[in-house]
Amino acid sequence: MNNKILEKCPFCKFTVAASYSGVLDGYQVDCPSCSKYIINTDAYAELCSRAITARQIANISGYLHENQGFRITTDNIDNLLKIKTPSFHERADKLLLALEEITEYAGQSFEQQFEWYSVGWCSCGIELDETITFLKNTGRIASGMRRGKRTYKIVADGWAHLEELKKVNADSQQGFVAMWFDDSMMKIYDEAISHGILNAGYNPHLVINREHNGKIDDEIIAQIRRSRFMLADFTGHRGGVYYEAGFAKGLGIEVIWTCNKEALKDLHFDIRQYNCIDWTYDDLNEFKRRIASRIEASIGHGSYQQ
Ligand SMILES: [Zn+2]
Repeated sequence: MNNKILEKCPFCKFTVAASYSGVLDGYQVDCPSCSKYIINTDAYAELCSRAITARQIANISGYLHENQGFRITTDNIDNLLKIKTPSFHERADKLLLALEEITEYAGQSFEQQFEWYSVGWCSCGIELDETITFLKNTGRIASGMRRGKRTYKIVADGWAHLEELKKVNADSQQGFVAMWFDDSMMKIYDEAISHGILNAGYNPHLVINREHNGKIDDEIIAQIRRSRFMLADFTGHRGGVYYEAGFAKGLGIEVIWTCNKEALKDLHFDIRQYNCIDWTYDDLNEFKRRIASRIEASIGHGSYQQ
C-alpha cells in the first residue's frame, strides 16, 4: 500500500469515503453498504490476494453493518470468511427490524434504502427482491407508490411478528457466558460472574475446554441460541468473545457487556457504545452486585433455583 489510498470497499466494491490513519496503520472506511469499519493495511493486502465468493462478501457486509466500527486485522480475516449465513427467515427478520427502526409512526412508508443489501445479508438484487417479496407475501409489509417510486411500510402481521421477535427465548433460564479462558478469569467467573447471574435468577452456562481455531463451534452456537441472555466479558480482548457477542446480538439476544477497568481502553469502539460494566480485581462483590442488577434491569428477575 504505497499511496495509502483506498477508493472502493474491498467487499461490496462500492465507492467509499476512506482515510488512512498512520496511528491505526489502517483505513477508516465509510461504506454506503457495509457502514463504518477499519481495515489494517496488511489485512487489506491479504484480502486483495484472496478469492472470495459473493456469499462470503454478503456475509461480511452484513456482519460489518451490525458491528459498526469493527476492525479487520490479519488475525480475524479467516473468521470473517467463515461467518455462517443466517437463514432466509433470519435475514427477512433483520430487514423487518431495520424497517421498524426507521419508522417513526405506524403507517410511515419508505423507499428502498441502499443499505438494505447489507441489512438483509443479500448477495445480489435478486436476493433482496426475494426477501422483500417474502415479507409482502407473509403480510408483514405492504408496498405502495409515491411520486413514481415504490415504497414499503410495516402492516398488521409485521407488527405482530416484531412483537414475537422481541420475546427471544422468553422461557429460557440460561445465561451464556462468553469470556477469556485464562486462569485469572476463571477466578472472576467463580467468585463474581456465576454468582451475579445466579443472584438474578438465571443459570450461568460456560462452555469450557473449547478451542477457538478460528471458528465458533456448533456446541457454542446451539447454547447461545437457547440462552435468555449473554454475559460477554471483554477482558483479554479475545476474538471469540467479540464474535459470540455479535452472534447473540444478531439473534436479538440481550447482551450484558463487562470488562476489567484497565482493559477498557482497548475495547473495540463498536462495543464502547454499549453501557459496559467495568470491574476491578479488588472489588468482586461490587462486580457481582452490578451484574445481577443489570440483568434484572434488562430482562427481569429469572426463576432459576440451584
Ligand atoms: Zn462495503
